[in-house]
Amino acid sequence: MEDCIFCKIIRAEIPCIKVFENDLVIAFMDIRPVTPGHLLVVPKKHAAIIPDLDNESLAEMISIAKDLDIAVRNSGIPCEAVNLQVADGKAAGQEVPHVHLHIIPRTTGDGFGLRMPADHTVPKDMSKIAELAVLIRAVNSDPPEAE
Ligand code: 5GP
Ligand code: ZN
Repeated sequence: MEDCIFCKIIRAEIPCIKVFENDLVIAFMDIRPVTPGHLLVVPKKHAAIIPDLDNESLAEMISIAKDLDIAVRNSGIPCEAVNLQVADGKAAGQEVPHVHLHIIPRTTGDGFGLRMPADHTVPKDMSKIAELAVLIRAVNSDPPEAE
């Protein structure tokens, strides 16, 4: 993709602080880190969202994310836990329309968090939830067994 910022980084047309690279993925430091050590793992093939990404690239992105999750925990960077986060589409908060997985080192009280709706603590009507599961199973090519 000609104008995609992450494709430009992959083609080395604009710089990045690289942490890892192989044939399928690249990982580099986020330019606006949420916490110190914030990384992005990016498949080299351009796909805007995960449904458009080939399974081999997706699997490699997850596999390298695991390696880097372990690496940040052992790096000496403050890290009690890690958020592995994908915003898969604009309404989910995706700013750069090229699939990427955030690795965000976390420490207690670091100020980062996912904001939930106010009523999130209240369990919802299970029959309505089950109706939604029916809709999902109906279009899923390999549906799981119902519980
Ligand atoms: P999104 O909101 O799409 O999930 O996250 C995009 C991330 O890419 C943001 O955290 C942002 O700071 C990072 N980012 C955007 N442009 C650049 C860039 O040119 N270089 C680097 N290293 N990170 C970028
Ligand atoms: Zn791209």
